Amino acid sequence: MLKFKDYEYKRPDIEGYKKEVRMLLEQFKQADNVQGQIDVMGVLIQKYKDFETMSELCYIRNTIDTTDEFYDKELEFMDEVLPEVEAITTEYYKTILSSKFRSELESKYGTLLFTKAENKIQTFDDKILDDLKRENKLSTEYRKLIASAEISFDNKTLNLSQLTPYRESDDRDIRKRANEAYFGFMKNNRSELDRIYDELVAVRTTMANKLGYDSFTELGYKRMERLDYNQDMVKVFRNQVRDYIVPICNELRERQTKRLKMDGLKYYDENYRFLSGNPIPKGDPDWIVSKADKMYKELSEETDTFFKFMRERELLDLVTKKGKAGGGYCTYIANNEAPFIFSNFNGTLGDVTVLTHEVGHAFQVYSSRDAIVPEYNWPTSESAEIHSMGMEFLTWPWMDEFFLEDGDKFRYVHLEEGLQFIPYGVSVDEFQHYVYNNPTATPDERRAKWREIENIYLPHLDYDGYDYLETGGFWQKQAHIYEMPFYYIDYTLAQICAFQYLVKSLENKEEAWTSYLKLCKAGGKDTFLGLLKLADLESPFKEGTVENITKVIKAWLDNVDDSKF
Ligand SMILES: [Zn+2]
Repeated sequence: MLKFKDYEYKRPDIEGYKKEVRMLLEQFKQADNVQGQIDVMGVLIQKYKDFETMSELCYIRNTIDTTDEFYDKELEFMDEVLPEVEAITTEYYKTILSSKFRSELESKYGTLLFTKAENKIQTFDDKILDDLKRENKLSTEYRKLIASAEISFDNKTLNLSQLTPYRESDDRDIRKRANEAYFGFMKNNRSELDRIYDELVAVRTTMANKLGYDSFTELGYKRMERLDYNQDMVKVFRNQVRDYIVPICNELRERQTKRLKMDGLKYYDENYRFLSGNPIPKGDPDWIVSKADKMYKELSEETDTFFKFMRERELLDLVTKKGKAGGGYCTYIANNEAPFIFSNFNGTLGDVTVLTHEVGHAFQVYSSRDAIVPEYNWPTSESAEIHSMGMEFLTWPWMDEFFLEDGDKFRYVHLEEGLQFIPYGVSVDEFQHYVYNNPTATPDERRAKWREIENIYLPHLDYDGYDYLETGGFWQKQAHIYEMPFYYIDYTLAQICAFQYLVKSLENKEEAWTSYLKLCKAGGKDTFLGLLKLADLESPFKEGTVENITKVIKAWLDNVDDSKF
């Protein structure tokens, strides 16, 4: 059995790839029966998987060791050729869409492949190629500006993420100063952050207009492959959040204030939850993984087989080390049918949630690895996060293994954070609708709008007179707003669905698992609403869903005596 370290990387021959694909597409057009086209599609899909496998290996190995010069160069190569691969994929889509055997192909591969292909070609045209490059360049400018932060704090020079522990310190004065240092960086760079965003909004609007859309909003939805819901439905969801979740979050903040024995929470107090600190896993990384072995063995036969598969092939890189990139992710190496999990364990509560979260993604892609086309390996992002956030809740009974006497404390903070995230998430979404539906708004008008939105969804916020935040600057720290427009509501929609798995599993564990397994096996074979139906989950867009789910969540939270934490 091959282990991850033995998976061989070879730089793809991109010119050869393009030539071969074009030749195959010609053969596809010439085929005089459907079987002929199916045979060619099989070869084309394998060619694509070969490229994707190399591109993923390159990405993974670069993030494991960003100082490795070999993979650094290879990544540069991949970044360069990616637009060319995209262009050739678009050609492939156009070819299959105009097949003379289209309806036979649809019964073989499913209509969704063709809907996705149609959607994809509506978001791309050669005439926006330069605009796309410009958009990428501006996103990179934002990322570099954020990464360039050098902040003097605690006699050290720190970047923004290194400030995090200080921003959550149990010393209130340190928390306050660290937050002011963090947002002070944003404030000092406000005009540059405004300029970059202005230009991003302009270039995105230009692309939308060139492609025949009134605003970027429509194009943004298409880029996110939202095939069965629209702006109006998202608005219905946001209104439910305002009516049913915001009041509960206000109550939770009051409880937190009491727990902390304070007069009122300032913005820098919000992530400080307990006088005794957050719960932490009671062992080192190897211990955590051995507990995970036990957990996945007990959870189900399927997760047992899966987790052994991952461990035996060494498809997990979990512990933080020098040179490793930040964050956590799960990806998929097509030719080896192998998911890969990456994280940065650092001794906090997040070590356990990142593991269960990424295992949720990995278990889904593993369960749907026999998908007939690569387009069905993963669902769209609002659905994909159900697998990950759902797994976080389905593993609740085992949290005592990781946190020992703090199991209840973990479950409390996990649920509290999950609920409190939603109003912020919909704020980010509503803001972007305003921005792209009003592309000529000035930076000051945008700031005023952000503040107005905060007052609706996050009314408890107290910025303690800090002018940059009082005047609506907070959103400039949210990378998604700059780099991945409209990618945010996804997390909140998925959270509502993941809560349903918590509720289901509290009522009937077996039923909850059966539904979850069905959802994982389906992978990306259906759209968001189609997948919800398949797994028997309520749509967050439907009036009443948010109210019904949060009622149960609130009852659970109310039942906990948090004064003992
Ligand atoms: Zn995720």
